[in-house]
Amino acid sequence: MNMYDIIDKKKNLLELESGEIDYFIKGYTNGSIPDYQASALLMAIYFAGMDEEETLALTKAMMNSGDVVDLSQIKGTKVDKHSTGGVGDKTTLVLIPMLAACGISVAKMSGRSLGHTGGTIDKLESIRGFRTEFSEEEFIGLVNKHGAVVASQSADIAPADKKLYALRDVTATVNSIPLIASSVMSKKLASGSDAIVLDVKMGSGSFSETLKDAETLARTMVEIGKGMNRSVSAVISDMNQPLGHAVGNALEVREAIEILNGRGPGDILRLCVALGANLMKSAGVECDADKARQTLVESISSGRALEKLIEIVSAQGGDENQIYHPELLPLGAVKKEVLSDKAGYVSDIKCNEIGMASLMSGAGRRLKDETIDYGAGIVVHKKLGDYVSEGEAIATLYTSSEERAEPVSQRILSAYSFSSEKPEDIPLIYGVIN
Ligand code: URA
Repeated sequence: MNMYDIIDKKKNLLELESGEIDYFIKGYTNGSIPDYQASALLMAIYFAGMDEEETLALTKAMMNSGDVVDLSQIKGTKVDKHSTGGVGDKTTLVLIPMLAACGISVAKMSGRSLGHTGGTIDKLESIRGFRTEFSEEEFIGLVNKHGAVVASQSADIAPADKKLYALRDVTATVNSIPLIASSVMSKKLASGSDAIVLDVKMGSGSFSETLKDAETLARTMVEIGKGMNRSVSAVISDMNQPLGHAVGNALEVREAIEILNGRGPGDILRLCVALGANLMKSAGVECDADKARQTLVESISSGRALEKLIEIVSAQGGDENQIYHPELLPLGAVKKEVLSDKAGYVSDIKCNEIGMASLMSGAGRRLKDETIDYGAGIVVHKKLGDYVSEGEAIATLYTSSEERAEPVSQRILSAYSFSSEKPEDIPLIYGVIN
């Protein structure tokens, strides 16, 4: 077997055998297959696609490229949640304490920011002292004691995905359905949970710009779950505008605390309830969707979910005082109101541009090891369908210097389009695939 023949076969639209896929993943992970051959194969897959069997074989090979976590020492059903990446997406910060407050064990491994999309680990690390790296023993102990843990993904989980993702990022091969599906599912399956809910984003701030693509991606991942005997469901949700108002690490933690206090924006809570109810069903905890939703909402109104967040933060070494007093969380030294130069209804927001503006403000990374300004980011005041008067603030920007503020402010402004007629409301949730 050799890489030249494998590339040539895929280039000619032929199906790869699982042995050929294993050969590629093993060789690329151990360094015997060079980047240029891996890039050529990725591009061939991008254009030729992969059928269900090939995608499952790719997922398995990537999952087995590193450790597969054994969570059997955690009592009961273990659940996990994964988003395909969005802007202002702080659902994990809200949903994990909600589920844990309902007695469901959550063993969550999360990532850092990627391109224009944020990362849960960066958000949580904006809380002073918050630890995200644990041994397997500590990880299991935290779930058993507190009902939840959010840890950064260890380098030993699906290392093939780590290498391949970095390569896809620079070879314009990220947005391929079989490549995204195998990337997401290899990590999730290696992380060991019994039930997984996927939040598949659709729209300008996500990797799937059309509903058709999002549905195909969701279906592909649910089928992979079936093929691996795991309970996987997917919620397709909107990412044509930021979720909630805050974009940026500590700003998003503040907003999550507001929601857990029962005061935050409704879109995030609705999405968390939908994701949570699906998870409760696939985990066999509560199959009546109305009851599941009610239980989840009560975890907030009773204050139990907020208490759980405080418990998790404290168990992971974070300063719980910053949760009681969110004003103690970092906040950018420079505050700038982004004033509209036009009047009208917001008809379009280039959501990826808002993500890029947040990155430019200091909240994300352009290079892998760049440090993050935890207090930087954007609070979006105007969303799709809102009326804006000329000179009104559409957003507030937080950053570290006046020089940074001006170009970021311009980028936010140019992400907005206006119309004289109020546009139709768009759905938050487009569908659920079980
Ligand atoms: N998220 C992932 O984990 N992988 C992808 O390929 C895209 C989004």
